[in-house]
This record gives sequence, structure tokens and C-alpha cells, in this order.
Amino acid sequence: MTFENKILIITAPSGAGKTSITKHLLKTFPQLSFSISAATREKRVHETDGVDYYFISPADFQQKIRDNEFIEWEMVYEGTYYGTLKSELQRIWSRQQLPVLDIDVKGAIHVQQQYPGGCLSLFIEPPSIDELKRRLMSRGTETEETLQARVNKAAYEISFKQHFDRIIVNDDLSRACQEAEAIIRSFIGLP
Ligand code: 5GP
Repeated sequence: MTFENKILIITAPSGAGKTSITKHLLKTFPQLSFSISAATREKRVHETDGVDYYFISPADFQQKIRDNEFIEWEMVYEGTYYGTLKSELQRIWSRQQLPVLDIDVKGAIHVQQQYPGGCLSLFIEPPSIDELKRRLMSRGTETEETLQARVNKAAYEISFKQHFDRIIVNDDLSRACQEAEAIIRSFIGLP
């Protein structure tokens, strides 16, 4: 199978376990390659520029918007831009690999609109809003206010789940990973 113009999108509300599932799939299938987004937020300690994100300034980001360099971009959090560069997809396709986009729900819908027929989109759903609340609280990074904001945002994002090809309920991480694996196997034409 050739992967030209094919895209794997993995999307979810925050706290649903999207990053763990994405990492598992990247380890399992050498045909997949993580699509490195451009972002304007501060780099975290364990992150590497050009590996986790292309960290750029808001001014550079805005210039790239004007130059039409993005497939999609969003202000995911107040004041912070994230976007998928066309050049990134070309880089991955030119290596005969399938790009994996770990992006927010709005961005995922935009990519699907631009590549009708070329995308496989997975929506990772938390088992319940209460469970999501528990997971976010156990991270210990949320105040009562930010917790409520994230939970409200998640409930809103879950309302878009029917826009995606497959919905995977992450009630158990290893089961969810297996389900995702089987879907990808069939998408990339493996037995
Ligand atoms: P974080 O800052 O925690 O790495 O990511 C925040 C959110 O931004 C995550 O939900 C992530 O999936 C999303 N995100 C990362 N890259 C992109 C992108 O290129 N476009 C969009 N729309 N969302 C992105």
C-alpha cells in the first residue's frame, strides 16, 4: 500500500489517554510516523524541539498562517497556537510512511474535510465524565477552576464523536491499544 495522501488522525478530549495510545501504535507499526506539529507554547523540560513539536514564536506562527503553510491550525488554549504543517506531511509521505496526527477535535475535523477519503480518524473516548475528572485530579496539576473548565471542554468535545471513523472507549488502556492496533492493521493492509 502507498501512503501518499493518507493520514491517521488520533483525537480525544484531554485526559482520555490519546497520547499513550498514539505512542503504543508508533512503537508497534514502523509504517507510522508521528507528525510533529508547530506550537507556540513553552517547551517542557522533557521535550525536544523538532521531536515533540517545532517550537516557534507567535510571530513566526502568524507568518506561516499568512503564507498558507498549515493544513490546519487552532488556538487550542488561550493564546497558544498549534498547527499541522503541509511540509511535515510531505516529509513523512516522501519516506513512504503514514503520518499520525495527535491533534484536538476541531483540528481533526478540519483535516478530514481536506482529505475526504484519505483519513482514518480515531476518537478516544473516556469511559465517563466522572472517570475523566478522577484522572485529571490524580495528575495533581488542576485547580478547582481549571478542572471544571477541562471537564466542560471534554463534554463539549465528546459531543463531536460521531464525526470520526472509529470510537475507542478507553476503559482499559491495554484493551484500547489492542482495539486501535486491529483497526490500523486493517487500514494499512496487514493480515
Ligand atoms: P500539549 O500542549 O499538552 O502537548 O497539547 C495540547 C493539545 O493540543 C493536545 O490535545 C494536542 O493533541 C493538541 N495539538 C497538538 N498539536 C496540534 C496541532 O497541530 N493541531 C491541533 N489542532 N491540535 C494540536
